[in-house]
Amino acid sequence: MSKIIDEKLEGLFQDVVKRNPGEVEFHQAVREVLESLGPVLVKYPEFGEHKIIERICEPERQIIFRVPWQDDAGQVQIHRGFRVEVNSALGPYKGGLRFHPSVYLGIIKFLGFEQLFKNALTGMPIGGGKGGSDFDPKGKSDGEVMRFCQSFMTELYRHLGEYTDVPAGDIGVGTREIGYLFGQYKRITNRYESGVLTGKGLDWGGARARKEATGYGAVFFLNEMLKVRRTPLAGKTCIVSGSGNVAIYAIEKLQQLGGKVVACSDSGGFVHDKKGLDLALIKQLKEVERRRISEYATHHKRAHYVAKGNLWEIPCDVALPCATQNELTGKDATTLVKNGCRAVAEGANMPTTPEGVRVFLKAGIAYGPGKAANAGGVATSALEMQQNASRDAWDFEFTEQKLAGIMKGIHQRCYETAEEFGTPGNYVNGANIAGFIKVAKAMVALGLI
Ligand code: NDP
Repeated sequence: MSKIIDEKLEGLFQDVVKRNPGEVEFHQAVREVLESLGPVLVKYPEFGEHKIIERICEPERQIIFRVPWQDDAGQVQIHRGFRVEVNSALGPYKGGLRFHPSVYLGIIKFLGFEQLFKNALTGMPIGGGKGGSDFDPKGKSDGEVMRFCQSFMTELYRHLGEYTDVPAGDIGVGTREIGYLFGQYKRITNRYESGVLTGKGLDWGGARARKEATGYGAVFFLNEMLKVRRTPLAGKTCIVSGSGNVAIYAIEKLQQLGGKVVACSDSGGFVHDKKGLDLALIKQLKEVERRRISEYATHHKRAHYVAKGNLWEIPCDVALPCATQNELTGKDATTLVKNGCRAVAEGANMPTTPEGVRVFLKAGIAYGPGKAANAGGVATSALEMQQNASRDAWDFEFTEQKLAGIMKGIHQRCYETAEEFGTPGNYVNGANIAGFIKVAKAMVALGLI
C-alpha cells in the first residue's frame, strides 16, 4: 500500500491503524477510500469541520457474541458471532452475513465499510453494516446448520428490525441459512416481519431475481463500461472465479449476452473448458448437490481441472473475480493484462489487491471495483424490502429491468464523478467519491449523532 495520500488523510489513516490493531483488511479498505478523497475535502471543507471521515471510520456499533450449538454427535461447539453496524445516516443498517472459518472482526469491518459506500451508490435508503461468524457450513448436515443458525439468531435478533438492521446472505449464507435464521427470528419475536432479512425463499417473502442479482448486476455494469468503449460483450472470452452464488449468475448473464465463459473455480482449484462452461452442470453440482468444482471434469472429459491452479493465467478478454477478497494479486493483474484482458468487473468484495488495482488503472483497462460492480445484490435486497413493506411480489422481468436500470445509474454516477474530479475513466475514484459524498451530506444534515 504505497500510494501517497494527502498528509492530513495519512494522519487519519494512521489513527485508524492504531485504533484497530491487526485488522489488515479493514485498513486496506479504509486506505483505498481515503486515497480518493483529497480533492473532496478541498471542494467540501465542511466535511473536514464535521469530522466526517473520522466518524465514518468508527462504526456506530460493534456486536461480538458467543454462539454455542450441538453437532450431530452430541458434542458442544462454540463459535463467535459478529454484527458491525457501520452507519445509518441513509437508512437502516444493511449488509450480509458471512459464515466462513476466516471470519474475524477485521473482515466484517472491511465488508461493512465497503457496504456503506456501495449502498449509497445504489441511491436507495439503506445504511451500511455486515456480520457473520467463523462457523463453516461446508460439510455440515442440515440439522447442524439449523441449530447453529438458531443459536446465532437467539442473540442477534435483539439488534435487528426492518427499520433498524436488515441482514442478508454472503459467503456461506444462502437461502437455506436465511430460512433457519428467519424462522428463529419469527419464533422469538412472534412477528412475521418479512423485511427483517433479505435473500428469503420465494415461498416465504423472497423477491424474484434476488438470487441472480449480484452476478447479473456485475455483468450489467461490465456491459456499461464496454459500451463507453464501444466494444460489444458478445464473442468475448471470459473467466470467472468462484462457483458460488455470485459466480454462477455472472456466468449465466455473460452467456445470455453472448460471452464465452471458459473457466471458473472454487477454493480447491479451477476448471477450464475451452468449449464454454456447461452452466446446468455447475448449478447441479454446486446448488443442488453441494459438491466440489473438480467433479465438473469427471462429467466432461474435454475439460480439465487444475488443483490449486491459478485461474488468472488463462488468457481472456474479460475477467470477473467473484470468490473472495485479495484473490487477484499484482502479479495476476500483470498476467491478465499481458494476455490481452481488457475489462475486469468485480463480483466479489475487494478481490483485487491494491497492487493489482494499480496495474489495471495504469494499463487503462475498464476496471469496475466491487463496491460499484456488485451493488446489484444489495439494490435488489432493497427491492425485496420494498415488496415486503407493500406485501407485493413483482415478476422476474420487471425486477430484472429495475436491476438493469439501477446498474446503469451506478455506472453513470461513477463515470461522471470520476470526470468531475479530474480522473476520467477511473471507476475507483468515481465510486469512492460519489458514495462518500452522499453519506457525508446526510451526516452533516443529521447533526452530531
Ligand atoms: P458463496 O459462498 O456462494 O460462494 C463463494 C465462492 O468463492 C465459492 O466458490 C468458494 O469456494 C469461493 N471461495 C470462498 N472463499 C475462498 C477462498 N478463500 N479462496 C478461494 N475461493 C474461495 O458466496 P457468494 O457467491 O455469495 O460471495 C462471493 C463474493 O461476492 C464475496 O466476496 C461476497 O462478499 C461478494 N458479494 C456477494 C453478494 C451476494 O449477493 N451473495 C453481494 C455482493 C458481494 P469454496 O466453496 O471452495 O469455499
